[in-house]
Amino acid sequence: MAAKIFIFAPLSEVLWDMKALTKFELALPQLKEGLNRLAYEVDREFFTRLDQDLINEGSFEVAIGLEKRGELIMLNIEHCGHLVVNCDRCAEQIMMPNEGETQLMIKLVEIPRMDDEVTYIQKGTEVLDLSPFIFEAISLALPLVNTYACKEDPEAPCNQEVLKILEGKSELSNKDSLLGDKLKNLNLEFKK
Ligand SMILES: [Zn+2]
Repeated sequence: MAAKIFIFAPLSEVLWDMKALTKFELALPQLKEGLNRLAYEVDREFFTRLDQDLINEGSFEVAIGLEKRGELIMLNIEHCGHLVVNCDRCAEQIMMPNEGETQLMIKLVEIPRMDDEVTYIQKGTEVLDLSPFIFEAISLALPLVNTYACKEDPEAPCNQEVLKILEGKSELSNKDSLLGDKLKNLNLEFKK
């Protein structure tokens, strides 16, 4: 799969409060109206810093189109990279390719409330931390199972030994007599 390459204009310095903000935090009062383009690299540290246990490790390029219209902020988050997970088939640690594009909405209001569709933030908030939104975008694209198409990739990360054994097992279960013979042989070997 060809990796997506994100090219964006450099961030305007005015977005950053040099003192305390991490690179994922924006100073809201200075955020300009209209479209702001942001680009991030997300790594292992990003996932360990967040209070979550869904993703241990991964590496992503993240491109965010942040559009501010008054009290409304629309986020378009594109991510492309890989997760480090244990393969559901062979248990080997593998790099699972993962990419996606997610739209999220933030509203600045007097009295914030909980909502699935919109994140409400108290008006007058000084800092907007984008990391939970980046995390949400990546976690929304998580696959249901972590298996890699090993057979299509000559350099697949999967544990071929385990896969061979698994394949062998499924073949054997279709041929009871053969399995029986193997077990007999095993028994003989143990008796020796
Ligand atoms: Zn595997």
